[in-house]
Amino acid sequence: MATMTFSIDAGEIRGQFPFFQPHPEMRSVIYLDNAATTQKPYAVIEAVSNFWAYHNANVHRGGHGAGAKASELYEAARERVAKFLNAREPAEIVFTRGTTEAINLVASSWGEAFIQPGDEIIVTEMEHHANLLPWMRLAEKKNAKLVVWRITEDGRLNLDDLRTLLTERTRLVAVAHISNVLGTINPVAEICRLAHAAGALCLVDAAQSVAHMPVDVQAIDCDFLMFSGHKAYGPTGIGALYAKRALLETMPPYQMGGGMVQTVSWERVVLAPPPAKFEAGTPPIGEAIGLHAALDFIDSIGRDAIEAYEHELTQYALERLQEVPGLRLYGPVPDRAGIFAFTLEDIHPHDIATVLDTRDIAIRSGLHCAHPLGERLGGSTARASLAVYNDTAHIDALIEGLHQVRKVFGYAG
Ligand code: PMP
Repeated sequence: MATMTFSIDAGEIRGQFPFFQPHPEMRSVIYLDNAATTQKPYAVIEAVSNFWAYHNANVHRGGHGAGAKASELYEAARERVAKFLNAREPAEIVFTRGTTEAINLVASSWGEAFIQPGDEIIVTEMEHHANLLPWMRLAEKKNAKLVVWRITEDGRLNLDDLRTLLTERTRLVAVAHISNVLGTINPVAEICRLAHAAGALCLVDAAQSVAHMPVDVQAIDCDFLMFSGHKAYGPTGIGALYAKRALLETMPPYQMGGGMVQTVSWERVVLAPPPAKFEAGTPPIGEAIGLHAALDFIDSIGRDAIEAYEHELTQYALERLQEVPGLRLYGPVPDRAGIFAFTLEDIHPHDIATVLDTRDIAIRSGLHCAHPLGERLGGSTARASLAVYNDTAHIDALIEGLHQVRKVFGYAG
C-alpha cells in the first residue's frame, strides 16, 4: 500500500474535542458515525455556554443592552453562514432547525404557492427522506407528479437521464449534494444548469457536504440549499436555508407569529422582509451562535484542506475494505465521499454494528432514512462515515473489527 502523507494532523484536531479526551466514566470510542452527527469542539461548546451564561436575552425585541447584544450575535451568525456559503447577502439565509425543517419550509411555502396540478418535481432515487417526503406530500396535495431520477448500477446519477426527465412541466429538481448512503458526490452545478435550462428551479440538500468540501451557492447557482449545524461540528436544533433573495420575496411565510411582521391590525398584516418573514417566534439563538463557532472551526482548518485530507483517507479506506472477504461496498469507486455503506457476508448489519460496538467502534446500520434507496440496494446496510478527526488508525481498527465480526459469525479466516 502506498504511504500517505497527510496534510492534516487528525490527532491535533481530536485534541480540540472533549469527546476524544480520556474521561474516568467514558470509554474511548472510535467514532465513525459522522454522517449521522459529528462531535463538537470545545470552541462550539464554549460559544454556546458563554451565550447562555453571559449574553442571554431574546433577539430583535428588548429595549435593553443585553437584547441588543444577543441580536448582534445572532445576526453575526447569519452573516457568518452567508459568507460560508458565499451567499450574496445575509438576507438570503434563513435559520431553521436543520436540513429537514429547511426543506419542509420550501415545500410548504414555495410549493404551496407555486406548484399547480400536473406540475412535475424531480427527486433522485438516492434522497434522504428529508428531501423526499415533503415532495411526496406536496405532490399528493397538489395533484402534481413526483418524477424519480433513478441511479445507475454503481450508484451515480446520469445527466443524460435527467435530460430525458426534464419537461416543460418540471418546476423543481431536488437533489442531495452528497448521498448519505452511497457517498456519491453529485455534480450539482451541472444539475442546476440543466434544471434552469428547462425552466425549473434547483434545490440542493447539502447536509452531507458543507463540513467536507467547499460549497459556494453562487458557483452552484442553486435556488435553494440547506444544511444542519450538527453534521458540521455545530449544535443540534440549528440549520440554515439559503434561497435567492428574489424567491424569498415572493414566498409566503411558513409559520406565523412574533418577529415576522412589521405591523398588524385587525384589517391588515404587513410582513417583515426576508429573512425575518420566515423566522416566526423566538429562534434558536444560542444554537446559531454555536453554529458560528463551528463554521469558524471548519475554516480554521480550511475546506480545501479538509476535502483533500478526507479524500486521501477515503482512498485508504477503499483499499483496506477490499481486504475483508465477503464485504460488499455500495456506491461509486474511487470517486466518492467518506461514507461507506456495506454488507458483510449474510450477517445482519445490526449485528455488524453491535459486534463493532463491543470493540468501541461506532458505526450505523439500517436503512439510513432512505427506504426507497434501501429497497434498490436490497435492504439494510452497515455504514461507516468519516470526519476530519478520523485517521488511518481508525480505519485499521474498523478493518480488524470486521475480520472479528466474520469470526464471530463463523466465517473462516
Ligand atoms: N439530508 C441528508 C442527505 C442527510 O444525511 C440528513 C441527515 N441524515 C438529512 C437530510 C436530515 O438532516 P437533519 O436530520 O439534520 O434535519
